[in-house]
Amino acid sequence: MILNPFLLERAYNETRQLVRRETREKIRNRRYNALKKAYQRLIENPFINYENGKMLILSDTVTEQGEAKFYRTSNKECRLEEPDNVLCFAFWEGNPCWHRATLEIVENYLLIESELNQASDGKTVHAGDTEVFTA
Ligand SMILES: [Zn+2]
Repeated sequence: MILNPFLLERAYNETRQLVRRETREKIRNRRYNALKKAYQRLIENPFINYENGKMLILSDTVTEQGEAKFYRTSNKECRLEEPDNVLCFAFWEGNPCWHRATLEIVENYLLIESELNQASDGKTVHAGDTEVFTA
């Protein structure tokens, strides 16, 4: 799916608001940096691969052989899936990483999108409801 840039900006801002609650300053700053990078990457490449709480994320670095690296990210963990299948180093260290920040922004994006869809559904008048069948 392709992200809408306006909704993306809103999702980014709302996700940043949530980080304000983080009381540990060092972690808070790292999360802000991770979100900023995630947001920039989503603007550059708004095609996302998200399914059932899991996201496949193309790394911004390549292997020594110059091959693409992919991360599989969920709320539970962040893992470098290709080519090694090992945990993301930042995640393993307990630090915020931009992969998980990407997932956070995208999940807020989907939430905002579904709220907007529900709001517009409520205004729709279903003409079919007025039909009376007499048989
Ligand atoms: Zn990660």
